[in-house]
Amino acid sequence: MADDDTSTALPQTCVRCGQVALLRIVGRCGSCIGTLGLEGGEEYAAWRAEVKAEFGAK
Ligand SMILES: [Zn+2]
Repeated sequence: MADDDTSTALPQTCVRCGQVALLRIVGRCGSCIGTLGLEGGEEYAAWRAEVKAEFGAK
């Protein structure tokens, strides 16, 4: 573990629910992403758009 990779491994606060989470994608924790996916509403679409902006469209 010589490299100090700050990309995704550090626990940080979820921008949606405020919980500290190890797994986050563009600021949302895993459980929020699951909830958004189930609801499939506007917030999920917005999150998807942010993911595309961050990682590129696929
Ligand atoms: Zn969350």
